[in-house]
Amino acid sequence: MKYISTRGQAPELTFEEAMLTGLARDGGLYVPAEIPQMSKGDIAALAGLSYEETAFRVMWPFVSDSFTEEEFRGCITRAYADFGHAARAPMVQLAPNHFLLELFHGPTLAFKDFAMQLIGQLFQVALKRRGETVTIVGATSGDTGSAAIEAFRGLDAVNVFILYPHGRVSEVQRRQMTTPDDSNVHALAVDGDFDDCQARVKDMFNDFEFRDGVKLAGVNSINFARVLAQVVYYFYSAVALGAPEREVSFTVPTGNFGDIFAGFIAKQMGLPIDRLVVATNQNDILHRCLSGQGYFKGDTIPSISPSMDIQVSSNFERALFYAYGRDGAAVAQLMDELGQGGFNVSQGAMQALSEAYDSGRCSEDETLATIKAQTAASGELLCPHSAVGVKVADEVRNTTAMVTLATAHPAKFPAAVEKASGMHPPLPPRMADLYDRPERVTRIGSDLATLEDHIRKTIAN
Ligand SMILES: *Cc1c(COP(=O)(O)O)cnc(C)c1O
Repeated sequence: MKYISTRGQAPELTFEEAMLTGLARDGGLYVPAEIPQMSKGDIAALAGLSYEETAFRVMWPFVSDSFTEEEFRGCITRAYADFGHAARAPMVQLAPNHFLLELFHGPTLAFKDFAMQLIGQLFQVALKRRGETVTIVGATSGDTGSAAIEAFRGLDAVNVFILYPHGRVSEVQRRQMTTPDDSNVHALAVDGDFDDCQARVKDMFNDFEFRDGVKLAGVNSINFARVLAQVVYYFYSAVALGAPEREVSFTVPTGNFGDIFAGFIAKQMGLPIDRLVVATNQNDILHRCLSGQGYFKGDTIPSISPSMDIQVSSNFERALFYAYGRDGAAVAQLMDELGQGGFNVSQGAMQALSEAYDSGRCSEDETLATIKAQTAASGELLCPHSAVGVKVADEVRNTTAMVTLATAHPAKFPAAVEKASGMHPPLPPRMADLYDRPERVTRIGSDLATLEDHIRKTIAN
């Protein structure tokens, strides 16, 4: 299986090369040249399988050129061994026909662990085989960073630098990034917002001298390996609810569009998904765009669901690539216009987007009200991101079974959850001493030269 860039100008790569590279050299994102198909029979055969076996069967056609079956199975087993729930991604029921897929039982209590734990294992196997080391730089609005640090800590072929916006992540998120004491992981508190952090990571990838000098690799949600790992739980949950015989819809709390795009891939592979619903908080550029108002940047307004406080949604480029009939030149043109502030989507592409996705927005007050109402209605304590999803799902729900993705554990966002519900969500026992561990972090400016200099010096030591 070859991987191609959404902007059509970068070399085709294997899965392993695309995974180790992250961003394509033409500034685009890698996608598979074709999407493997699963027949009705293949999907029916997933019934009753473990998460790990489901993961192997769903992902294998995407990676089989790059790993042996034994290597890949080993990576999957190790990736999910530390999860705090035997089902890995268990479902609970909120209401008749409405289900919550709990994706927060990994080591950092957010869904990003599903992809990051696997990518850590895949990097380790691939780099060991090649005898190489890499520098991973990632931007985070909170959850990606801790998930990356947990996934790569202690792996000596990898140095990890995580840029997060100073003062704009929750205390639990910050401590999860600053308390691991392994010498290969580094938390950088950047003076700026998430879009600044994300833009600097992109700048580093476009600075080929720096990129080649430190052997830069990316694990942000632009990395197709991350999207791929997330495809699995769409199959796992849909099959548990009766797929392929029964259609299922999904509502996904969305920021960078990685998680919902994984749902799009699952549907293209043959999973009978009715609607894919994008749920945004007050930073609603995606909802505005999917409502036909064009894709124009505003200012990011900090919210109680900070992992979705995003204006430029990096994986949306992949959605546009398919909506524009895989026309890389058209995507490159749109991304140029985005640099000037934004773009309007053509009529044909708009139609393709509305066939693929629905969307909704949830205000701060509605988020709090949903947490409160859900505690009364089902006893489920939702994190603010998951609450955004549940609110939007309730607006669009019809007779098809709806699965809302619960993207983080409520204990990651105790202040908002307590304000809404009056209940303090405790950390799971395995993390109870998080507030007592010493922190290690570098506060740093947001300009490219300062950041590159710091990274070069740190790895030279
Ligand atoms: C990252 C994150 C999101 C957004 O996911 P995307 O793949 O970026 O759309 C939502 N909720 C939580 C808790 C997250 O960490």
